[in-house]
Amino acid sequence: MRPDHRLTLDASTADFAVDVANIVRNTALGGSRGAELRRLLHVLDALAAFHRDDAVQVYCVTDRSLMTDERLTAAERETLGSWSSDGLLEVLPVADDRLVELASAARLRVVTDDNFLDYYREHPWLPGDRQHFLRAVAGPDGTVHVRPRIMPEPEDWQISRKEEESALLAAGLYDRRLGGARQDLLLRHWLCPEPGCPLFGPSRGGGQPCPTRRGGTVRCPTHGVALKDTGARPHQVQLKVRSEGEVRHRFLLVEGQTLTVGRAPTVAGDAVPLAAHLGEAALQWISRNHLVLELAGRSLTVRDISANGTRIRGPRGEDVRLPPQGTRRLRRGESIVLHDTAFLELSGRNFFFDDNGVRAPQEGPEGGRPTAAARETAHPTMLAPGPERGRGAGGTPGRRAGGGQNQRSRGKRGRR
Ligand SMILES: [Zn+2]
Repeated sequence: MRPDHRLTLDASTADFAVDVANIVRNTALGGSRGAELRRLLHVLDALAAFHRDDAVQVYCVTDRSLMTDERLTAAERETLGSWSSDGLLEVLPVADDRLVELASAARLRVVTDDNFLDYYREHPWLPGDRQHFLRAVAGPDGTVHVRPRIMPEPEDWQISRKEEESALLAAGLYDRRLGGARQDLLLRHWLCPEPGCPLFGPSRGGGQPCPTRRGGTVRCPTHGVALKDTGARPHQVQLKVRSEGEVRHRFLLVEGQTLTVGRAPTVAGDAVPLAAHLGEAALQWISRNHLVLELAGRSLTVRDISANGTRIRGPRGEDVRLPPQGTRRLRRGESIVLHDTAFLELSGRNFFFDDNGVRAPQEGPEGGRPTAAARETAHPTMLAPGPERGRGAGGTPGRRAGGGQNQRSRGKRGRR
């Protein structure tokens, strides 16, 4: 796959973020020059493998200094320049605080070697964090892999962090789970007053990047100027079809929409046919009209209309079968099982579940058991679950997924 097809600045559907300068200058990833673009391409491949999604969507951020780094070839610098002007690469004077912000506000996992020690005071969730960061490493044969990493936790920091947390908690300013939830930024349309802004210009379609917040003002990360709020974005959620362990398809569900999903839906209205993405056994098992999805506000409900049934798989891999015609609200960390080899998974950070990331989702009227799943919802470890979890067992879902809201361009890319 062409590398630019994996680049996105759509904060709500990206799967990962990458600290581009940090990767491109990491000589441990192979190559002889002090800066090589090839290292980034290896990391994109590694993320596709890690996520089991060839079309993994990656939010790339770089220090401006990389754009003129003489250790890159002229062609490499030109590639970076075109990505920047095409709105596929965010270029900043310094990328560090931005990457921390993407991890915190957009809940993206960030690939970097940086320890961000300067940001520990401002972001008390950083030290010891094991959910938001990945490291790229080269194996003995030179192949690049990504692995979860744990942020260092300096001893002397521990004490002051506790103090600070208590003070912030007392002031109601600190969300222990997020280090400050700002997902609300992603639910508005923003416009940058700078002409030709590649991130928040008027011509940008589809999803949008994550704005930055400085001194109480929402700003363009590139230009630093205040962004204009041009209205609410409808809630929407992206779902992925994982068949036989691999992501084969993605589709979008918009607030107020009802979608019939099945092998080959025959009902009137919006539908998602799955036949082209299914294996033989699943084709035999899954009904033409198998289930109905509906997004009302932030509530995503599933209704089973199939012959063989639909199950909901919880975060720990436990299945609950929906009663025939039964409706259930889907919660964070859950996926929908149509067959042992065919799942619907929620994309990405799932921030749409919470207004501000603090409140636990309410039980729906038909809500299932307020048990493990509900507890999970409020548990910090559910914030940024690893995509590697449960992979081995029949392609059970990670909740981390994503992809573009631009369905047309996706089609063009020849996704499986
Ligand atoms: Zn701008």
